[in-house]
Amino acid sequence: MGSGSDLVGDLVEALGSDSVRSEPLDRLLFSKDAGVTRGEVVAITFPESATEVAAVIRIAGRHGLPVVVRGAGTGLAGGAVPSEPAVLVVTTRMTEIEVDAANRTAWVEPGVINLDLSRHTAPLDLHFAPDPSSQAACTIGGNVANNSGGPHCLAEGTTVNHVLAVEFVDAAGNVLLAGGPAPDPIGLDVRGVLVGSEGTLGVVTRALVKLTPNPPAVRTMLLAFPDVADACATVSAVIAAGVVPAALEMMDRPLIRAVENFIHADLPVDAAAVLLAEVAGHPAGVEAEAELVVAIGERHNAFQIRVARDDEERELLWKARKSAFGAIAQIAPDYYLHDTVVPRTRLVEAMTEIYAIADRHDLVVLNTIHAGDGNLHPKFAFDGSVPGEREKVKAAAEEVVGLSIRLGGVLSGEHGIGLEKRDLMSLVFSAVDLDAQARLRDAFDLDRRFNPGTVLPAGSRCFDFGKQPPEGVWV
Ligand SMILES: Cc1cc2nc3c(=O)[nH]c(=O)nc-3n(C[C@H](O)[C@H](O)[C@H](O)COP(=O)(O)OP(=O)(O)OC[C@H]3O[C@@H](n4cnc5c(N)ncnc54)[C@H](O)[C@@H]3O)c2cc1C
Repeated sequence: MGSGSDLVGDLVEALGSDSVRSEPLDRLLFSKDAGVTRGEVVAITFPESATEVAAVIRIAGRHGLPVVVRGAGTGLAGGAVPSEPAVLVVTTRMTEIEVDAANRTAWVEPGVINLDLSRHTAPLDLHFAPDPSSQAACTIGGNVANNSGGPHCLAEGTTVNHVLAVEFVDAAGNVLLAGGPAPDPIGLDVRGVLVGSEGTLGVVTRALVKLTPNPPAVRTMLLAFPDVADACATVSAVIAAGVVPAALEMMDRPLIRAVENFIHADLPVDAAAVLLAEVAGHPAGVEAEAELVVAIGERHNAFQIRVARDDEERELLWKARKSAFGAIAQIAPDYYLHDTVVPRTRLVEAMTEIYAIADRHDLVVLNTIHAGDGNLHPKFAFDGSVPGEREKVKAAAEEVVGLSIRLGGVLSGEHGIGLEKRDLMSLVFSAVDLDAQARLRDAFDLDRRFNPGTVLPAGSRCFDFGKQPPEGVWV
């Protein structure tokens, strides 16, 4: 036992004063992620190794406090937001990368920024395939914990398909390894369970990730449509034709205009929707696939089709797509982004109803869609300082969730459940399903030492039913 009630003193003794923060401003800054909930942080730690992570977990435990893990804090579901006073483990100082070029893998510490990994491996003509739009900021630890996706995950698969092994620290402070370099490791697939577990089972301290060769040829196309329905129909038709593009993204008119104002990429501001389609692979195959995508677009009334002439134009088009969130700041100081999925074939109905929801609540909605996956990201722009605006946005967002589930979709495509959607889990999981997930969590962390109150609603264990969940706090 350290110095009894002096949590910060004990943390400083273990990590050094440079690695612990507890000033009110720091605690405020780290009390929320990029979403809309805020929690209470008691102390913030910046460990540099698995051993230091284990020390923080043990010290927090001695002081009766849970631990919440945080990477860059770009999560949008409140996954890194404490639901009760907690010690924060921030991984941003754990940034080692060890590449095995021959095996096209790398051991990566959790604080490595997603884009930095691909920059690091670029001289080897390799990259890390999952590319969230936040890739310039988000960490590999956050990607693993949220099983993050990105525009290029349509063909390549989300993070879980690119992680071979995970080193993690458990609730008792032990360092464990799940998975390994073999493609089909023996034993239960604990690696698979950890990926997407949102920091509830342990702290990821290293991941062995696959590196993907850069494709020899790429064609990036922007197709402009007079109607959102035409763009949606093109998406279904492309996949039905047997082409799985490397990426197939959609933006609607309000967003096209906001982005064009911001990035000046010569986007067609009169289009109701644009599709950004990319095909990649062997040059001969790429040409054939690009021609097919163009032909399908033309059949569905595309009135402008632009094929990027060079890398510079290709990068500009992607910069436009990946700047969509930032562009909203021109319209309103706040936005609330939803992340749900509908079957690709129901995109037209989903979009029609999303516009109707926005109208009913008198809100501006801007849409980006990972269209190939049916992953919707409606963004309601609002001014949180205006009384009643947050309530309107929250009500509209709940209608989007209900709509997505009604159309046969799910709660989240990639941003996770966190605090934001915890209390909606029973819309898609039965009591027995939730109980099974809660028992799995118990096997790792019976006392809820990690990210308590997130992902699973209170009462998930069958014997627990009837308990009221704690309130998520919108800020
Ligand atoms: C502008 C913008 C665009 C985005 N675009 C995408 C997108 O295209 N695709 C997508 O999937 N997401 C997207 N996101 C969401 C977010 O960036 C991802 O979920 C990302 O993976 C979170 O990484 P992070 O380092 O910021 O994690 P944080 O926000 O810090 O944490 C996220 C979750 O991971 C847990 N966690 C973090 N590190 C660890 C660790 N080492 N061990 C265990 N648990 C850990 C946290 O406890 C929390 O539950 C976007 C967010 C923004 C703001």
